[in-house]
Amino acid sequence: MSEYRAHTLPSYLNPEQLGPWGTYIEQVERVTPYLGRLGKWVETLKRPKRSLIVDVPVELDNGAIAHFEGYRVQHNTSRGPGKGGVRFHQEVTLAEVMALSAWMSVKSAAVNLPFGGAKGGIRIDPRKFSRAELERITRRYTSEIGTIIGPHKDIPAPDVNTNAQVMAWMMDTYSMNQGATTTGVVTGKPVSLGGSLGRVEATGRGVFVVGCEAARDAGIDIQGARVAIQGFGNVGGTAARLFYEAGAKVIAVQDYTGCVYDANGLNILALLNHVEKNGGVMGAPNMESLTATEFWALETELLIPAALEGQLNSDNANAIRTRIVVEGANGPTTPEADDILGAKGTIIIPDVIANAGGVTVSYFEWVQDFSSFYWTEMEINHRLEAMMKAAYASTSAVAKEHNVSMRTAAFIVACTRILEAREVRGLYP
Ligand code: GLU
Repeated sequence: MSEYRAHTLPSYLNPEQLGPWGTYIEQVERVTPYLGRLGKWVETLKRPKRSLIVDVPVELDNGAIAHFEGYRVQHNTSRGPGKGGVRFHQEVTLAEVMALSAWMSVKSAAVNLPFGGAKGGIRIDPRKFSRAELERITRRYTSEIGTIIGPHKDIPAPDVNTNAQVMAWMMDTYSMNQGATTTGVVTGKPVSLGGSLGRVEATGRGVFVVGCEAARDAGIDIQGARVAIQGFGNVGGTAARLFYEAGAKVIAVQDYTGCVYDANGLNILALLNHVEKNGGVMGAPNMESLTATEFWALETELLIPAALEGQLNSDNANAIRTRIVVEGANGPTTPEADDILGAKGTIIIPDVIANAGGVTVSYFEWVQDFSSFYWTEMEINHRLEAMMKAAYASTSAVAKEHNVSMRTAAFIVACTRILEAREVRGLYP
């Protein structure tokens, strides 16, 4: 009989470690009682399948050599290849990328895409580097993770501070190393390079679609509904515009430069214009500014965190006065904040449903790349909307059936799908 304790955690999975990985583990623990016989396999979800740390040495424009730390984590591939973005941020860590990769597994399964979950990142503040330096950093990173990515292995995509241009460099680097143009290795590419129409807007559009579904179920009219948004990048910016165009009042927007406010609703088109020229919301004309504390305490119908993890936490959850939180970001709410908001009756549409529009259109892009047959933007948006509404409706039904939050319901659906695949595949050897 082996002395081995079945569930000894590897050192880098220290349960004491706070932050996004701790949040994710708590979410899995909360769902475990609902998994029945599949609970036997739940440990699979608590450790990533494969984690790669790479050194990214690059010559800077001034001739100096800099070294950056890069990661690619494949959390689970039971249902298909790894899928998930690459993030450039000065605070990226292995533990954060692990959590983000795990949320990708749950997200793909929650909306029933044939993917597992993965994520990548480079610990770098991209604002401090020239375009040529960013290109070299991206290419060297891609080369370093090149052995574990591929159209049938793991497919990167944009995330915080990365975009279609970064994906083009990744696709080109991978293709040069393979000796064959391989469009399906990344998604979120430029349309001229096998990218999909509608991909840039997809995450924000998905946030808007499920936000409207949740508002309808709560008896809130989108016309005139007060919306506050944290984050005004690709996700927050698009969601803000769609809510604005639908007649909602986006009363406040917060980004890394500050927070702007107008009780009668901000002119989002003017704000997008200002941000395009100035890089952030601060200093936008004809708008009041607010402190972060004031921002969180605004009375709204919809609050959309669309920035980074852990933004709704035990420090601000008591002050938050909104009916519905729609999580555009990954992991924006800590388990403590989940409990505080839940006790107040605040509805939270979890990230794994709310921001799944991006990976859904990534899936469409991947399919289009394989068939070399491209769909119209109308077709993309129509299919996206149908999939988002279906995911929202089925999650809602499970939440009612078990009398649990939308997050726990989404995790029940997703973890069941992942672990059923895990079980039926069986262990090798
Ligand atoms: N980075 C996005 C996310 O967090 C999209 C990932 C993808 O398209 O693969 O969902």
